[in-house]
Amino acid sequence: MIDFSRIEQTDKEVYDLIIEEYNRQQNELELIASENRQSESVLLAQASYHSLKYAEGYPSKRYYGGCEVIDKTEQLAIDRCCKLFNCNYANVQPHSGAQANMAVQFAILEPGDTIMGMSLNSGGHLTHGAKPTFSGKNYKSIQYEVNSETYEIDYNELEEWISLYKPRLFIAGASAYPREINFKKIREIIDKVNNETYNGIYNYYVNSGADCYEDESGNKISFTEIAKKDTDKVKTYFMVDMAHIAGLVATGLHQSPIPYADVVTSTTHKTLRGPRGGIILTNSEEMIKKINKAVFPGIQGGPLENIIAAKAVCFGEALKPEFKEYMQKVVNNCKALANSLINYNFNVLTGGTDNHLILLDLRNKGITGKELEARLEEVGIIVNKNAVPFDTENKATTSGIRLGTAAITSRGLGSEEMRIIASIIDECCHSDTFEEMKEKLRETVQQICNKFPLYKEVN
Ligand code: PLP
Repeated sequence: MIDFSRIEQTDKEVYDLIIEEYNRQQNELELIASENRQSESVLLAQASYHSLKYAEGYPSKRYYGGCEVIDKTEQLAIDRCCKLFNCNYANVQPHSGAQANMAVQFAILEPGDTIMGMSLNSGGHLTHGAKPTFSGKNYKSIQYEVNSETYEIDYNELEEWISLYKPRLFIAGASAYPREINFKKIREIIDKVNNETYNGIYNYYVNSGADCYEDESGNKISFTEIAKKDTDKVKTYFMVDMAHIAGLVATGLHQSPIPYADVVTSTTHKTLRGPRGGIILTNSEEMIKKINKAVFPGIQGGPLENIIAAKAVCFGEALKPEFKEYMQKVVNNCKALANSLINYNFNVLTGGTDNHLILLDLRNKGITGKELEARLEEVGIIVNKNAVPFDTENKATTSGIRLGTAAITSRGLGSEEMRIIASIIDECCHSDTFEEMKEKLRETVQQICNKFPLYKEVN
């Protein structure tokens, strides 16, 4: 555990809260799929002197003096990030995942353009076009659902929708989708739709009867060229938000979106195990220019260079072979937990998981997501209630919960503990016996917490 006693000397009140939160985390099991346990190096980098420096702009193009070291740090983060995800360009400045998504939308779209993302109930994120967010307010948002029988993405239906609505931006990626997403297939669909658009425009010009066209300067311009220019103004861009699966992508345990998407966003704090923050990746020079302008000065001021230093540490860690071993354990634990839950007759949506998260539909257990979240918290297991696709409950109650294994795997839990956790989740669903059982369940959780300390060097 990091020594925070310096804070105690100057601000006892905040120090006590820091220690209280540390103890809560140490004595509870974190199954929130979007959280993780960062290394102490990642934590410490965030408290470094880089925090003091203003550095508006980008490496070697700053609006402040004194940025020599900051430039080296940010460039290191960019280089490591590009190496990790095998891409040409990265912007490591977004303060969060939501801001990375906002920057991409501001870079590509005009107000009123059509965007298409997965609905919240099907597992998408708020910033993929949900009504209360900038993405739902500024743009015409069409939300796709998973298939109503399989609860998985239906690529045939996607093709119909993309072809029908021709969105300016199609967003893949999710916050609560337990299966691998086929980015290659989506690229093929978008290419097909964009080609149809091109052919339509080209034929329009050919059929117009003109010999050729002239641009604003009077230069002759071929039908092929003019059709391409017109298509560029309306074609569908493909964005992937890999926030949840970034760690799996980095280690080859999930298909990478980089070869297929025009632009990829991510957070750095979920499976990737870095500081809270966002990144934007692309292979296109034209796209990175637009993205860089959209991040700064578009939506942000000075970058958080201490967080960028911590991102560099995180990318360095993720490049090591141990990180791949860790990610494999996350997936193995998740599959083990899903199988145990299925044995307790839980409705594990899609029948299992390919990644670090599980979605449970609790309706066959006679308990809501809200109730189970509260009972699990009483015994020391932290989860979040989650809407399931086509949910019949409201968002504050929900019929489901989402479980993730990234954080508990960082603590060292394995398949044996997954079986115990599944049995505790099952016990918590039994309304008739929960009150008499809860002390015993809390003790079992405490034993696991003691065996797997949050940080090894606990004093
Ligand atoms: N994108 C996805 C897929 C997410 O799941 C989340 C958050 O959970 C975000 C973006 C937003 O990230 P942040 O909370 O850093 O803004």
